[in-house]
This record gives sequence, structure tokens and C-alpha cells, in this order.
Amino acid sequence: MDENARETLALLRRELDAADRVLVGAGAGLSAAAGLSYLDAEVFRKYFPDMYRLGYRCQYELVGMKDDEWTPGRKWAYWATHIHYVREILPPLPLYGELLALLEGKDFFVVTSNADRQFMRGGFPMERLFEFQGNYDVLGCSRRCTEHTWESLPALREVLKHIDHETFECPEEAIPRCPYCGAPAEIAFRPENYEEGYRRYADFVNSSAELRLCIVEIGVGFNTPGVIRRPFERFARLIPGSTLFRINKGYADLRDHPGYPNVPKDLAGRAFSLPVDAGEAIRALAD
Ligand SMILES: [Zn+2]
Repeated sequence: MDENARETLALLRRELDAADRVLVGAGAGLSAAAGLSYLDAEVFRKYFPDMYRLGYRCQYELVGMKDDEWTPGRKWAYWATHIHYVREILPPLPLYGELLALLEGKDFFVVTSNADRQFMRGGFPMERLFEFQGNYDVLGCSRRCTEHTWESLPALREVLKHIDHETFECPEEAIPRCPYCGAPAEIAFRPENYEEGYRRYADFVNSSAELRLCIVEIGVGFNTPGVIRRPFERFARLIPGSTLFRINKGYADLRDHPGYPNVPKDLAGRAFSLPVDAGEAIRALAD
């Protein structure tokens, strides 16, 4: 870590202590730093052996592929394998507990694009957490015939049992379906209490307008900048007593993924870039 980063972290530490409130936004970079690596070839070979045989080498290669190029059977085989790994093999990652310890005693709120449930598993109070893009634990109807959602893991265990390991396809009859209309189910759905969570998030931000608000963004890139990145810049502009800290190292092993820790120029003096690993940053703040 260079001297600049060390100084900025010291500033963040002081701001965390001085702020009335803390707003945290986290993306895939936090889980990557915590140990859910989409680049780890060893993990991939061990837990995704069918895909390894098909020539893939890490989960990151599959991002964006699922939408256009794969059959529904291949997508469900992938999701069942991926979610089984994330929810049933991977333990709660300690870095989340360390982040919670930093926030203990503060009036804080967390918004995340992660569907992996690590915040919940790390002990974060659910009334201070909003999972903007839903989570892996529920399925919903792709035809939206009902608002009702249902548990994903039992249905995905069925998919796992039926995957054809030669082709890495889930047969048509094992694809999870809506219990009401029979349409295919959908993954990472917005759970039934989604609106409630959104309202709590909006209330937290709206009632912070006159306060000293420390905004900390961790591991948020440009996959879905409209979810956290852009709104956080807007909050920083609108709330005069706010500061914005953007922690993002990115995926150093991958070309075209430099981490994007840059902050808007018009926020100079109140927005700070921290191009360091989220784990390193959280541990340095705890010291
Ligand atoms: Zn339906």
C-alpha cells in the first residue's frame, strides 16, 4: 500500500468516527477480496468439474455468456452448480464480520448488488441491509404471474441430481417451474419484502440530507453502475456534509479490469479514491 492510500485510509478512519451516519455500498469486489473468487482456477476445477472438462477455466469467463449463448438446460446446470457452491460449500467469509465490527455502534446502512448472502451470513442486521439485485435464496415466476417467491435451494438440489455430466445440461423436466402457472422459474429474484427494504434504504438516505454522512463504496465496478456507483456520486453531490470513499482494486489478473477507483472531479476534496484491496483496507481501518 502506498503512502497516499495510507493517508486516505487514516482520513476514512477519522471520518467513520466523526460521522453521524455511515452508508456502505458493496459489489462483487468485496466478496472477491473475502474469498469468493471468480478467478480461482483450482476452486473452479474442484467444484465445477463438468465446465472444466468443457474447456472453461474460471467462473469469470462465464460472465455475460449465460444470456445469449447457452440453452436453458445449460443455464440451470450452471446456476445450480454456482449457487450450490456459494450457498452450501462456501462458509461465511470472515471479512464480512470484520466489516461489521468496524460499523458496530454506528448508525449505518448497507446496500449491495451481491446476491451471495454474505452480509446476512456475516451477522449484519437485515433491517440495515438492502440487497438491490435480490438474492440467490429465492426463485420467482419468469412470467410474473404472482408476487410470491419460494425457496431456491430445494429446487436447485433437484437440478444438481439430474445434470447430464457429459453435456452439462439439465433436462427439460428438471428445470424449476412456477408452482402457479408452470412457467420457468427465475434466479436471484427480488424477494417478497423487496419494496420494504428499498423504502428503508431511501428513508436512510433522505433523512441524512442535513447530516455528516460518510459514504463508503467497496468493490463496485462498472457491471451495473446504476445500482450503487452513480447513485453514491449523486448522494455525495446532494448532501453537503458527506464524504465519499471509493475502495476498489479490481481484478489485477484480468486485462480490461483495472478496478475503476476513480472519483468525479467536481467532488474534489470530498471524494477519495482508494485503489487497494478491500481486505487490506478493512484490516487497516480496524487497527
Ligand atoms: Zn407463474
